[in-house]
Amino acid sequence: MSKLTTKVALVTGGSRGIGAGIARRLARDGAAVAITYSKGAEAAASVVDEIEGAGGKALAIQADATDADAVVAAIEKTVAALGKLDILVNNAGTAIPKPFEESTLEELDRVLDINLRGVFIATKAALKHLNDGGRIINIGSSVGERMMTPGLAAYSATKGAVKMFTQGLSRELGNRSITVNNVQPGPIDTDLNPASGDWAEPQLALTALKRYGHVDEVAALVAFVASAEAAYITGANLTVDGGTNA
Ligand code: NDP
Repeated sequence: MSKLTTKVALVTGGSRGIGAGIARRLARDGAAVAITYSKGAEAAASVVDEIEGAGGKALAIQADATDADAVVAAIEKTVAALGKLDILVNNAGTAIPKPFEESTLEELDRVLDINLRGVFIATKAALKHLNDGGRIINIGSSVGERMMTPGLAAYSATKGAVKMFTQGLSRELGNRSITVNNVQPGPIDTDLNPASGDWAEPQLALTALKRYGHVDEVAALVAFVASAEAAYITGANLTVDGGTNA
């Protein structure tokens, strides 16, 4: 039996990048997986096709992380279609890199709304359904702990907030054996942070391993945290960053 057989997971922002990698991996480990997306219906459908083609169960739901009603509805649809909810992965996130002084209030609100408020909304809705022994896994960032490059002040502030939200919530859910953890990627090659170009160069230089990470390397850590073997890990910030923060 695979590690997550009988489990149901919801991955927000699971149509591309790290979220898609997590969805594929959780499905490979036996979980039925729902993913949300905001605009990329085709990309979401192809993740579902891939999982179903490999014999798994998956479902794509359009739900913008800034739309509280849509996020709540996505959780309800997941439970209605897949029967229950055991694992929530709060992955949907964005960055708008630029000097803080040049950022507009709209841009700052957007980063806050997706990266922090969106996590609050999904978590609150999921808690109504999460079974004892459930898992909440937030995708923070290595820059939520240590910041070395300019242009991401607001983004790193939201990820620092995700870190403290994780720690605080873990104190509230321990009596239900629900663990709450924060997986903090470093530079991972995705549409948000491509491994080539001017923007990538300083990030690459800061890693100890001198390379960008792959989405599967984040997904592997998430799959472990989701498994029964990780039952005693909670309130933890687990970094997968090629040594960036070393
Ligand atoms: P991508 O931009 O490559 O993918 C983002 C995913 O989230 C897509 O599936 C996208 O779907 C979805 N998404 C974006 N905005 C929304 C929204 N408003 N509502 C719902 N879904 C949304 O990002 P990454 O995979 O790189 O990042 C994933 C997470 O990992 C983020 O939280 C990011 O901050 C974090 N992270 C990434 C790092 C990296 O180097 N890549 C490093 C550290 C942390 P759609 O196309 O439909 O919008």
